[in-house]
Amino acid sequence: MAKDDNLLSAISKISTDSEFFSPVPDGYKSGRTRYCFVVGTVMSGLGKGIFSSCAAKLMQDKNLRVSPIKLEGYLNVDSGTLNPYRHGEVFVLDDGMECDMDLGTYERMLNQDLNKDNFTTSGQIFSSVLHKERHGDYLGRDVQMIPHVTGEVKLKLRSLALKTNADIVFVEIGGTAGDLENAYYIEAMRELAYEEGPNSSCFVALTYILEPKTLGEQKSKAAQLGIKQLMQLGIQPDIIACRAAREVSEKVRQKISIYSNVPLERVFSMPDSASIYTIPASMRDCGIDFAILKLLKIEDRINLRQERKAWAKWCEFIDKIELPKKKITIGITGKYTSVRDSYASIINALEHAGIALSADVRIKWIETTDITDANVSRILSDVDGIIVPGGFGTRGSEGKIACIEYARVNDLPYLGLCFGFQLAGIEFARNVCGLTKANSTEIEPSCPEPVIDILPEQKKLEGLGGNMRLGGREIELKPDTITWELFGKAKKVRMRFRHRYEVNPEYIELLENSGMVFSGKAPAHPIMQILELPEHPFFIATQAHPCLTSRPLRPEPMFVALVAAAMKKRYNDDKLSNPIEAAAKVCSAIN
Ligand code: GLN
Repeated sequence: MAKDDNLLSAISKISTDSEFFSPVPDGYKSGRTRYCFVVGTVMSGLGKGIFSSCAAKLMQDKNLRVSPIKLEGYLNVDSGTLNPYRHGEVFVLDDGMECDMDLGTYERMLNQDLNKDNFTTSGQIFSSVLHKERHGDYLGRDVQMIPHVTGEVKLKLRSLALKTNADIVFVEIGGTAGDLENAYYIEAMRELAYEEGPNSSCFVALTYILEPKTLGEQKSKAAQLGIKQLMQLGIQPDIIACRAAREVSEKVRQKISIYSNVPLERVFSMPDSASIYTIPASMRDCGIDFAILKLLKIEDRINLRQERKAWAKWCEFIDKIELPKKKITIGITGKYTSVRDSYASIINALEHAGIALSADVRIKWIETTDITDANVSRILSDVDGIIVPGGFGTRGSEGKIACIEYARVNDLPYLGLCFGFQLAGIEFARNVCGLTKANSTEIEPSCPEPVIDILPEQKKLEGLGGNMRLGGREIELKPDTITWELFGKAKKVRMRFRHRYEVNPEYIELLENSGMVFSGKAPAHPIMQILELPEHPFFIATQAHPCLTSRPLRPEPMFVALVAAAMKKRYNDDKLSNPIEAAAKVCSAIN
């Protein structure tokens, strides 16, 4: 048994004789997996998730197996009950986990599906500890923050390492060093690094260099104090990444180096970047990847030939970002405030589609509460396509329906996502099938024509949290439909869901008889998942959230088709005479 394994086995047993307690999953061997901890100082919003995902990507390119994990400080068990306008969008993983939007950044950057093991909250950690306490697992010990709660965090990280056989686990700690709610996470990291031994882990501190307008020069004091705070918690950073509006000067880096015991060559300047996708290249240029590899002493595991290939593929993608592009505008119905974060995946999916088609996709946010049939044409006069995204409740829904009607009647390209799918069904039922009272029971519980109704499995559920129809599901595509063409004539596609309501099966026949085509449905269930209007230049809606699985290296076909249709509308481009065919071609060439 290796020396470190001895230490681990001594501390992994609970006993009343010893103060040590650090549960280790069966079969875990110290030394296989290294850990890279990313902690923020000075302020939140520095892009810890972006740094961590880009660093992980650079390691993945080198043929290393990477597993990211985000540790959130809040007490909610998952992100499902959080208001997206406060905390950013709720990102749904394939296994149904509702998590922080940063997980989307990891999935996009790594082109890898993640699951519940890659995300935890203080709520999850504490409920697990309390469950064990009730179960008698602590053998009469008084249950404490140290070692039991920190032990639970370490168990989570080691279990992820073991399960994924990762070379490196990237651990992003939410919040900022000095916050009360993440202090025990930072303590757990300190303990883990100590227990795993030298070269097992590296600590990256992200910090911010201020540049007050009145002074016109970069100031490092706030950064120094932030790093000092981390050091007071017992963490000596190995790498410091200085975020700033502009390139950080050598003088400032020197100051940071002196005050933090970090050699100058490991104090990196990370100025703002126009695109997140060019950050891996900047990090590579300044040598952050090799700094991490050296600290973790795993240079011998990398494969440089494989890296050359992966990097060439990535460069091909980022080169396209620089190409000249044609401007189009897509309207998205959404509230004005904090829209960027609440619709992060949609914005990303449009960006991927735009890059694939050399389109510069501008977004016009459309507040729908005041939209009526009388003003809708003015409000939508300058958009080339429209998205009605996911949503809950009644606010603005009539305005959204007016937008959908306008798009349908005026041949404006339309993509409906989840709520936007349901509202498209309602609009069609009202204005084409003549069911003037059609609505969703979510909006009007006792409506006489419930075209959208609660899913049977949802009727029995009580309480909130993790109980919608959630996660990745297969969709059976109907042959010879537009959707089927778009997805390369595939029999099935997989998308992620998050909903309680569905098209009421009693109305399917009526909708179909009036010209709506349900081109995707759940296998073996009458749950309609994609609809299209064959006579329209582009009118597709889905009960799913395809934006969640759009990746830079794998743009999502529905978004590519919307952008292609919008470009055709604006420029009447010959190459895009059949936007569906063009989108299918672009997507299959990339995939
Ligand atoms: N509110 C709708 C439902 O629960 C749509 C959900 C959504 O758009 N995510 O079915």
